[in-house]
Amino acid sequence: MIYANRLHHEGVKKILLIIMDGLGGRPSGLLGGRTSLQAAYRPNMNFLVRNGIGGLMYPVSQGIRAGSDTSHLSILGYDPRVVYTGRGPFEAMGLGMDVSKGDVAFRANFATRADSGFISDRRAGRIQESTDELCRAISLNVGGVTFEVKPGVEHRAALVMHGDHLSSRVSDSDPHEAGKPPLDITATVDSAKRTANVLNQYLERIRKILDDHPFNRDRVSNGKLPANELLIRGAGMAPDLQDFQSKYGLRAACVAGIPMISGICKLMGMDIIHAKGVTGRLDSDYESKISSAVKSLDNHDFVIVNLKGPDIAGHDGNPLAKRDVIERADSAYRQLVSLGHRVVISITGDHSTPAEYGDHSGDPVPILIYTENGRKDCAKRFDEVSCSRGSLRILSGDLMQYLLSVSDITEKYGA
Ligand SMILES: [Zn+2]
Repeated sequence: MIYANRLHHEGVKKILLIIMDGLGGRPSGLLGGRTSLQAAYRPNMNFLVRNGIGGLMYPVSQGIRAGSDTSHLSILGYDPRVVYTGRGPFEAMGLGMDVSKGDVAFRANFATRADSGFISDRRAGRIQESTDELCRAISLNVGGVTFEVKPGVEHRAALVMHGDHLSSRVSDSDPHEAGKPPLDITATVDSAKRTANVLNQYLERIRKILDDHPFNRDRVSNGKLPANELLIRGAGMAPDLQDFQSKYGLRAACVAGIPMISGICKLMGMDIIHAKGVTGRLDSDYESKISSAVKSLDNHDFVIVNLKGPDIAGHDGNPLAKRDVIERADSAYRQLVSLGHRVVISITGDHSTPAEYGDHSGDPVPILIYTENGRKDCAKRFDEVSCSRGSLRILSGDLMQYLLSVSDITEKYGA
């Protein structure tokens, strides 16, 4: 890719990229055969696509059921097939944990280990109480490595190892089914042997702490399953990402709905903007997020926004809630329609989360790109169907290059 170093060049437009998480959908019987986006009242997105260009974007590649992490990496021009080593660090960032270069992170479950040493329940009866206290009790230093555990939803948690010369090339302790003992961690390459050893020491140490912890004694005396084993899986290394500004020559900021996305942008060296009000939820304050993003354009060249709501409604299997949250976002986009003289605006999704499917699907996502005096095409409304009449068919990994060219930042390739 060819990028210029025309930093803050006069007349070059800035870029605002809005990712509506899980935006794409499928026809819903509850919406008369329309998708949630088609059913939404969305005058502002329709204005932007009608006066700009539309199309479909394939997250990562055609037919890939991308995660939010791999998709955001790809959209920002970092190939997940190169930089992504496992879900662990992204799940940990999602819980607000600090994951720095060289750290190794795992997804974790509190489970029940029976007296036989075998796992009797991989979810410890799905814990309803906060495991915060339990996580603190097993956050400790073993063999020169600091282990940090943070609670997720119910029985879920994340484990981060902070230390020198760690490796993510290690196996899971999670046997992935009940009726088996937790597995010893093994190194899959020689250089990971020390990491595997210290992990085994750590897991042995915390078994005693968990067995004796008042949280578990209480559970047992109340007839509940104890959370006396931490099963870990999905080891990953925090990726060493090239600084966004040195990659593109753009000062960048992120207004994110969820810590995982702000964590990814932080690894790229972007400024993280915290909009006021609740965030990462169906009832997030989109007015404040969009106004924070617009304000951030004053002292940044590139601003990315993630709105989590559509994905949440999609996972909940609720096409009406998804329609409603899209309408709320569109109403906040009223702030964008007058910016076209100085900003290139792009709105898309990181993947589809059809409410009928309840999870990420491999369907492409609608995309629009609008700027004053830019090209126009035959996409007249912003949805999965009308955008298929637009001019864009783009892989997420090419989006940055495309946006840079629309903002007149790219160098000529050749003479
Ligand atoms: Zn997502």
